[in-house]
Amino acid sequence: MLLDARKAATRAVHIQGGLRAAQVPEFAALLAGEEGTIAVDLAFSKDDQGRYVVQLKVEADVAVTCQRCLGPMLQHISGNTRLAVVMTDQQAAALPRHLDPLLVEGQMCNLHALVEEELILALPPFNYHKQSECSTSLAVYADPIEEPEQARTNPFEVLGRLKLDEEHQE
Ligand SMILES: [Zn+2]
Repeated sequence: MLLDARKAATRAVHIQGGLRAAQVPEFAALLAGEEGTIAVDLAFSKDDQGRYVVQLKVEADVAVTCQRCLGPMLQHISGNTRLAVVMTDQQAAALPRHLDPLLVEGQMCNLHALVEEELILALPPFNYHKQSECSTSLAVYADPIEEPEQARTNPFEVLGRLKLDEEHQE
């Protein structure tokens, strides 16, 4: 979706909506599956310095791969960034710290690409189940404890010994 960010800022456009992972393929490529929900909130405005800014919020529940057991898990991610529309790298470099540059070439900014970048930034690089939910730790607990040597005694030997004991008693 293309949008004129400066016009949107002048008109104080506010966009809220949901996305499917398939609509942000670079982000989807980092996931374990395309199920889940992605909620996006974009609020365009002009700040008191006359800059065109956009407050971008993303909230998502997506399936990622646990790096311990390699099984799928649900991960909640959220991002919240304030961006200022800039036309050049010099303008970007001059921005104060609390503003990230949104480099717009020509008039239009690609909202999907913007949201996709924010989602990728918000996604932790490594994800792990909680210890109690991870199938690796379950496997460790389920592993049979190495049987002590004694238990492997041939059952016939035991029978034989019982017999001997009985004979001794007679
Ligand atoms: Zn796991």
